[in-house]
Amino acid sequence: MPILVTDFDGTFTRRDFFDLVLERQGSPDGHEAWRRYLAGELTHVQGIGAVFASLRTDEAGADALVDALDPAPGTAAAVATLQAEGWEVVIASAGCRWYIERLLDRMGVRGVTVHASPGVFAPETGLVMTPDPDRPFHSAVYGIDKPAVVRDALGRDPVVAYAGDSNTDREGALMVPPGRRFATGWLARRLAGDAVVHRSFVAWPEIAAGLVGGEAT
Ligand SMILES: [Mg+2]
Repeated sequence: MPILVTDFDGTFTRRDFFDLVLERQGSPDGHEAWRRYLAGELTHVQGIGAVFASLRTDEAGADALVDALDPAPGTAAAVATLQAEGWEVVIASAGCRWYIERLLDRMGVRGVTVHASPGVFAPETGLVMTPDPDRPFHSAVYGIDKPAVVRDALGRDPVVAYAGDSNTDREGALMVPPGRRFATGWLARRLAGDAVVHRSFVAWPEIAAGLVGGEAT
């Protein structure tokens, strides 16, 4: 069964949860943590974890942020189309399972495997992400080792596609052939700058259309 490994924030959805936290509900601690991550003083999991924990809102406010992740229209239908065509869809995310599963549930998306760090939200603590070393594909730096997810997929089927938007997606994207290497945002600009052949997309449903259309062999 062919496998699509896809990033979540900014790839499956049009916005990143950490960005929404900083933009709408974050305390100064969140901004400071992200600055320290960008300066190389914190690991990715430390930086993004501190941003999530800086979230100060009630349940309704947290739900509103999940809605604001804003998947493109047609994304749930595109997942269903891929699945009907025999594709396995795997989400690999350096973010948190808490908001990924909430959004998938709300969208009515079923049968997708999610590899992301677990976490719990409470108004007093924010979203506390707890990477689990006992889970498959654990990474101390990113929470989830995306290249390991791609390697596992390649071990199970010769046809693997990858979709992503950020620096955490670059290595995984390079592990699949150009016709199945889907990129948007920063990753698309970086690959173009490095003259790495890829398929650029704006909205996630384009990936399903490209794979099912049979162009990606
Ligand atoms: Mg992303």
